[in-house]
Amino acid sequence: METEKCVYRFGAAADGVDVTEGDASMNFVLGGKGANLAEMARLGLPVPPGFTITCKTCMGYANSGNEWQQGVLDQIDAATRDLEERMGKRLGDPDDPLLVSVRSGAPFSMPGMMDTVLNLGLNDESVQGLIRQTENPRFAWDSYRRFIQMFSNVVLGVDADLFENALSKRRLIAGVRQDSDLSAEDLCQLVSEFKAIFRDNVSVLLHPELADAAGDAAFPADPALQLRLAIQAVFGSWLNERACLYRKQNGISDDLGTAVNVQAMVFGNKGESSATGVAFTRNAADGTKEFYGDFLVNAQGEDVVAGIRNTEPISQLKANPTFKEAGEQLESIFGILESHYRDICDIEFTIEQGKLWMLQTRVGKRTAAAAIKIAIDMVEEGIITREEAVGRVSPKQLDQLLHPQFDPAADIEVLACGLNASPGAAVGEIVFSSDDAVKAVASGRRVVLVRWETNPDDLKGMTVAEGILTSHGGKTSHAAVIARGMGTPCVCGVESFQIDAKAKEVRISGTDLVLHEGDVISFDGARGIVVLGAVPLTTASLTKDLDTLLAWADEIRLDGPDGRGFHVRVNADNPKDAGLALSFGAEAIGLCRTEHMFLGDRKQIIQSFILSEDAAVRSAALAQLLEVQTDDFLSMFRTMNGRDVVVRLLDPPLHEFLDDPRELAVSIARLEASGAEGERLLEARSLLRRIDGMAESNPMLGLRGVRLSLLYPELPLMQVRAIASAAAALKRDEGLDPRPEIMVPLVSVTREHVQVRDVIEGVIGQVEREYGVKLEIPVGTMIELPRACLVADQIAKHADFFCFGTNDLTQTVFGFSRDDAEAKFIPVYLHKGILDVNPFETIDDAVLEMVSMAVSKGRESNPAMSYGVCGEHGGDPLSIKRFFKDANVDYVSCSPYRVPVARLSAAHAMLELR
Ligand code: ADP
Ligand code: MG
Ligand code: MG
Repeated sequence: METEKCVYRFGAAADGVDVTEGDASMNFVLGGKGANLAEMARLGLPVPPGFTITCKTCMGYANSGNEWQQGVLDQIDAATRDLEERMGKRLGDPDDPLLVSVRSGAPFSMPGMMDTVLNLGLNDESVQGLIRQTENPRFAWDSYRRFIQMFSNVVLGVDADLFENALSKRRLIAGVRQDSDLSAEDLCQLVSEFKAIFRDNVSVLLHPELADAAGDAAFPADPALQLRLAIQAVFGSWLNERACLYRKQNGISDDLGTAVNVQAMVFGNKGESSATGVAFTRNAADGTKEFYGDFLVNAQGEDVVAGIRNTEPISQLKANPTFKEAGEQLESIFGILESHYRDICDIEFTIEQGKLWMLQTRVGKRTAAAAIKIAIDMVEEGIITREEAVGRVSPKQLDQLLHPQFDPAADIEVLACGLNASPGAAVGEIVFSSDDAVKAVASGRRVVLVRWETNPDDLKGMTVAEGILTSHGGKTSHAAVIARGMGTPCVCGVESFQIDAKAKEVRISGTDLVLHEGDVISFDGARGIVVLGAVPLTTASLTKDLDTLLAWADEIRLDGPDGRGFHVRVNADNPKDAGLALSFGAEAIGLCRTEHMFLGDRKQIIQSFILSEDAAVRSAALAQLLEVQTDDFLSMFRTMNGRDVVVRLLDPPLHEFLDDPRELAVSIARLEASGAEGERLLEARSLLRRIDGMAESNPMLGLRGVRLSLLYPELPLMQVRAIASAAAALKRDEGLDPRPEIMVPLVSVTREHVQVRDVIEGVIGQVEREYGVKLEIPVGTMIELPRACLVADQIAKHADFFCFGTNDLTQTVFGFSRDDAEAKFIPVYLHKGILDVNPFETIDDAVLEMVSMAVSKGRESNPAMSYGVCGEHGGDPLSIKRFFKDANVDYVSCSPYRVPVARLSAAHAMLELR
């Protein structure tokens, strides 16, 4: 039986001819890194030769309980021998050793999730060969100590700090500040110390193959063993905790596996004519067309991202005569990659003694602002189409752009400056560790995570923090990359922050200020500034670029198959929100809740209507409500002139407008205790009795919605009169075009709707006669109960539109009370994997099925009707797409700030349908 091909070569053979077997399309076979290394080699770019072990091999290994499947090791051996031949060097050769890196690379980029081992193949003998070949003992010993350090940590889990401490101590002894100033002797000494650390911290019980003659753990000298253990470790890291967490957060399947790339080493640490760096073909923070990134002279791999030394900006590369040629070549490669991938590229490179090598490329992550600018620029540059531009900006990114900013009117004093790594402003209490962040947020506090630099173990804290601040590292450091991906504000490299994470304090150099855990700071990730205390924030408005992109999104979403568009409305119940929503591009009001109009100073009026036993008081209250409601609608309809405004009749249980009976009971007790008798006490007691009388065991399923209108017909009479007379007045007296629609909430029985509709139409008719104008006010139903969905065909015969209240529908389909479920058991359900998502955030399959059924029943029995969704789900990108594609609705309605997100999501839905 022939074994499946599990190894693919990339790069040149000994004669310089390219022998690459994979390409960019093989992402799921070779992982992103492997596929793109192959693609770069095919493009003729300088890629150090190597081979990729497929993702499937990783899954095969994991699924058979970490055992190698038959034939796989043979293929790897053959590929290793082939690589030795191509390079003209052998692994472990005491005269001229081949060194390789072992690099993970999954189908989706998982920044910092998987670990890489560099300089594999070194041992006490081959290090001598490396010295002879390079005549550079310092370089050779530096490479060797790095190898022991990485291998021990990544492959065997030895605590990285042990090595860092030894390194710091060595620097101190040698009297130097930077690792690059350590001498060959220092480094040789470190190698011995590192091996001792290895011996003391690796268990031979767990790794019997590492036992030496004395039964201690010895650092493995055999390159074949080194290689096998390293590959196994990469495979194992697919299932480490942080990788699993990242995948969960990003919806990536656990079944993909990671590839392993074994690649000949090139060296950025060979002296002052060598360097290593990372770069983007455009500015990944704001989208400007300029090279963006950092490099470090005489350094290797991770040094750039780890923030060990301060890096130089990539724009300075060519300015250094040693790197002039390599810098020019790099710039031309930027161009080649961008036009090849038709997108911004993220690149890793190394310069070994003046010669440039490409080590990685992928389509670059970018901030929301950059994503929009780049998409628009690339349309203008003729690289991509408008559809592609719209498709490339994710609703999540857009959301990030609409993040809060410092209020420009706020008077701020800058405490410290750093690099503007990820935009948005954050305000919160300082915490110094990921765990503290998690704890503080769980207790309802808002925090900013302040760290020297972050690493993948900080992910949980980074996820919950309002923002991330680091004192070290550049714009491509771990903190910066992750924060941009999560849309969390981040300032990094704040050098004046002298952080003592153990003591939980930070000294601000240049001042005598010391900040402690719990102190509040604010920072602006777009400007890189830090301020003491809480700065007031404002939410951003649409920028010109965003406006352009959303206009393209509108073109797409409004031009569907059979002329069917996908519309976006807003949930707004005051003219200010309505105006804001119009500026955000809302087409109409999909839900105007009237209960909010009864709050504030009007609560008193509705209270006297509800509580009074005196008919005269009640009707006076109604008259007053009529007056204020009419004013409300006058200004709403003026703002929304010519656009639909769907007004929902009063929905919540009446006792929501009443005072808290517990407070009342307390004040009665006080009055009684003070010995007071008479009028006031009697009144308070009778009020309490009436409030108690209104209490319900299950208010959510109680006297509310259409039921209120049927039991207290004065209410809809008043509300409809307010709506109709406001419309009539605007039409007759101001020549405007008001377009109210009336929506009846919480219908489950067709006759509920029919009877209320009769009342509504009666009032409209009266108002028409009084004003002498003809009104056309559609009357529709809010579909939010399972029974209504089941009898939607019957209800449809009496309704002009349906709008799905998916919050209540979710409550009633699940039988989950939202207020209790979200606080009590949904988090547990998510944790236990019973639910994948919170059904109150993203529409659940079964609830969607209900909507879909009701839409098709409705369309069949009354083809003229329109269908919308006005629950919270109307602002959730994934739900929006599904409402359109799977349930056939015509519009979603969401809160004002979600409108831009909804426009973009609607366009994405349409693009997917094409
Ligand atoms: P990650 O996925 O975390 O970026 P990489 O596999 O890209 O990990 O490697 C980490 C670092 O090591 C990068 O800076 C990369 O450029 C460097 N590196 C990887 N392979 C080689 C190699 N063959 N020669 C020199 N540097 C390498
Ligand atoms: Mg990399
Ligand atoms: Mg409802």
